[in-house]
Formats: sequence, structure tokens, C-alpha cells
Amino acid sequence: MNSKAIITSALPYANGEIHLGHVASTYLPADVTTRFLKLNGVEAYYVCASDDFGTPILIQAEREKKTPQEYVAHWNKRDYEDFTAFDIDFDFFYKTSSQENIEFVQYVYKKLKENNHIYESEIIQFYCQNDKKFLPDRYVVGTCPYCKAQDQYSDLCEKCGRVPEEIENPKCAICGAVPVKQKTMHHFFKLKNFGDALNKWLEENGKLQKDVKKYVQNWIVSGLVDWDITRDISWGVPIPGDESKVFYGWFDNHLAYISTALKFLNDKGINGKDFWNSADIYHFIGKDIVYHHFLFLPAMRLGINEEYKLPDYIPTRGHLTLQSKKISKSRNWYIGLKEFLGYYPADYLRFYLVSINPYSQDDLNFDWDDFVLRINSELIGNLGNLVNRALGFTKKSFDGVIPTPDEFDDKDREAEQKIKGLASDLSALLEQNHLDRALKKIMEFSMFFNQYFQHKEPWKKGPGTNACVYLSANAVCSIAIALYPFLPTSSKKIWAQLGLSGEITKNSWKSISELMLKPSHKLGDVSPLFVKVEEDDIKKRKEKFATT
Ligand SMILES: [Zn+2]
Ligand SMILES: [Zn+2]
Repeated sequence: MNSKAIITSALPYANGEIHLGHVASTYLPADVTTRFLKLNGVEAYYVCASDDFGTPILIQAEREKKTPQEYVAHWNKRDYEDFTAFDIDFDFFYKTSSQENIEFVQYVYKKLKENNHIYESEIIQFYCQNDKKFLPDRYVVGTCPYCKAQDQYSDLCEKCGRVPEEIENPKCAICGAVPVKQKTMHHFFKLKNFGDALNKWLEENGKLQKDVKKYVQNWIVSGLVDWDITRDISWGVPIPGDESKVFYGWFDNHLAYISTALKFLNDKGINGKDFWNSADIYHFIGKDIVYHHFLFLPAMRLGINEEYKLPDYIPTRGHLTLQSKKISKSRNWYIGLKEFLGYYPADYLRFYLVSINPYSQDDLNFDWDDFVLRINSELIGNLGNLVNRALGFTKKSFDGVIPTPDEFDDKDREAEQKIKGLASDLSALLEQNHLDRALKKIMEFSMFFNQYFQHKEPWKKGPGTNACVYLSANAVCSIAIALYPFLPTSSKKIWAQLGLSGEITKNSWKSISELMLKPSHKLGDVSPLFVKVEEDDIKKRKEKFATT
């Protein structure tokens, strides 16, 4: 394991609230991974930023009679608050409209130009005579030229994940009129220059998901298309030497991974560039932006002579559907993160979303009934039950003091081995990004100790009672630390109930497998960790969707 890491997740577009779909595929997996790395002693930093530029934001700000600066400042603050309420613990949350990012983007552009990766060419741009506007990106909809899916944006087909060279049957997304074509001079990034270098990088990086790699390589084989990096609008990073135009958002936004990390590290007195180049770099994304992260982003870094190293990991996950239907904000088929956290604790959502989210591009489904079942029977019925049972019994029968164990029998030795193996079992899964399987492993561990406790019947106060209490309380201690990346709030609660002093984050990952609670240690106050989700409550939650 590298002793340094920088973790990023796809930047939230500063144009609306964070919903469950956003957090499931990117922010939550990135947060769990960062917490895991930190417990392993890795100097890991999770940085993120709001993605502030682009046409949709400009138009929406105009509608709300705000400057775009005011508009994005609102969403930057709100997003950060929502993430924080969900225990997404960024080391630094910044913005693509920062002075540092603007300067860095212009620097990269100049470097690319020096290296002959930029050219200018006159293009024909859609223009709506009705709205008197150029219509970049999302303001033209039509049929994808590759897969023929209808109603796709001109800058990204959500069906096949590709960026159409030219959309078919174009329409103005604002008024529906057929746009006319007008000439304008644009700057292009020569993605075509990088086919071989990208292929080599994909071949050599053994940490990228094989299936993603494979279809990216197919794109390369079928021919890369140069990128138009220009927009005829006023809100963006100005293009050096052609300041009436700005860069396309996908030219500047992922550069904010670097500029944000540099700002944070340099402010801390660490040489940001050296750190970046000696760290493991993780970019957590959803599968809709594979093209941008596997081609555009590495090509731009290759184009500036790898002054900043390419990513080591690009964990890519599928989309969250809601009650088996595609999430859609315009059709009100979504659950806002803030709304959800008004009903249930962050840890319930973290538990559920990690549980249903494999390390793959398969879509995952949020289902209210499944949510209730997993929270009530697994999180509470299994894990909450063990914590309460083991600590409650110690409290009641031993005055909260861990007893000196009697000699271990076979069952005790098996239990001890479970504790001793847990840290490495979990590590093996977490290092490979299998967060769902690691959480499942913790649940199996908890299940084992529930059965062990039941089997030993310590309430009969027979021989072996002390060993059972001693080992069960230590199993709870292991769970407290192991659970920290997944459910940080609950983990800290268990820690307090165990009566252990100091921050739980000061423990090492290895300590999961040490029997940390020694005889005569006194527990803290013990109370149930969780409250059950009521069926009636869920009925109310479901009503919102019944009428939609
Ligand atoms: Zn398509
Ligand atoms: Zn129009």
C-alpha cells in the first residue's frame, strides 16, 4: 500500500441539490475508501470541488436574476452542507471557478498548445433564431448517431455513453425550434494524437476495471475524435488569446482535481506537485463519464508531459435507479439527500447504499421495502443486537467490567480466530474496492458472535461464562473500528459505549484483530444504537412516488 493517496470524486454540478443517485456511485465509495486508507496510516486526502461553469448554470442564473457567481456560491455552500450531514468528510471542498483553477487551466492550455495538441478551426454552431443564442451542449437535443437513441443531449448520449460528433434531428432544448447553423472559430484538443499512448497506459495499469478498460479500448480502435474545447458564452475559464470565448466545462472541471489538491497541499506547507506525483491517485466516478475520465483526462495529462501523473484507480460504478425506474429530477423521480436525512440517520443510508452497490458498472436499485428489511433485520437485528447484547450483559452481570477469561474451549478458540482474522480479511476486500463484500464480511462476523453468544448461554453463569463475555465484548470492539469507514457515527457511538478513551480514528486498522479490551476494563454507558424503521413511516415515503 502506497503511503500517500489523493482521492477525488466526480465534481457536483453547481446547479441543483445532491440526490441519492449522486452519492451512491461516487461520494460514498470515495469516502469509505478514504477513511479506510487513513486508518491504515496512509496520508490520504479527499478533495472535491463544485463544478461551476457552463451553459445550464448561466441560463438558470439569468432566470433567477442572479449573477452566475452568486448562483454557484449558493450551490457550493448547500452541496457542502448536505455532504457533511451525510458524513462525507472532504479534506477540502473548493470550486472550479477558483482563481487557482482558472490559472491552472490556462497554464495547461498553453502547454498543450506548445506541444502541438491544440488547433483552431472554424465550425458551424447551432444557433436559435428564436432565443437569439448559440446553442452549445445540452441546449441541443436529438438522436444519437451511434446507437440511435432519441432525445439525447448533443454533448453526451446517456444511452451508450459516447459523445456524438454530430447529433441527428437537432432541436433547440429551450423552445423546440429547429436551430440554424452559424460559423464561429473554435479551439480543438487533438485527442487523435493520443490513441497509442492511451492504449499503452490502459494495458499497463493493472488496477483499472477490466470490463471498463475493454470498451474504452474498443473506442480507441474505432477511432478517436478531436475535442472542441470552446464555448461561445461568457461564463467559464477565458481562453488565453481569445478571451471572448471560454473553455468547455470538460476541459476545466477535471483539472480542478489537480488545482484543488495543489491549493490544499501547498496551503498546508506540503509541496503539492511532489505529493501528487508520489501518491496513489483515485478518481471515483459513475459510468456515464467513463469517456471523459479514461480518454480526455489522461490524454490531457499525457499532453503536458505527465507533469502530473495519471490516475492509478478510476473506480467506476453503475447508476442508482429508484423503485426500479431511472432517476429524473425533471419528472420529480428522485430523493434529495437533505430530504432523506430529514427522515433517517446518515448511517442507515450509508449502510443500505454500500450493501447494494457492487464494484461494477451494474445499475443498483433503491427500493423502500428492501431498505426497511436491510435496516431492521440486518443492521439492527444482527449488528445492533450483538452490540447491545454483549455490552448490556456485561453491564448487568459484571457491573460493566470485563472479566478475566477462563480457559478457552474449542468454540472460544474459533471465536478468537475470527477476531484475529478480521482485519486482513477486510483489507483484502477493501484494497480491491469491494466495499459491499467487506461490509457483508462484518455482518457475517457479527452473525457469528450472535450465534456464539447464544450457544454459550452466559446467562446460566456456568463455566466458560467469563471467556464468552470477554470475547464478545472484544468482538464488539473490533466491529467499532471496522465499521468506521462505513458508518462513522455509529462506530463512534460504540466506541463511547465501550468506555474507550481517545479518538477512534487514532487506532490502526490492524487493531481490529487485537483483543483490545483487557480484563478489568470498565465499559461506558450502554444503550441501543439504532431505532427501527416503522412500516407506517415507509408508507408515507412511498406516497410521494405513488402519484408521480
Ligand atoms: Zn448513443
Ligand atoms: Zn430556441
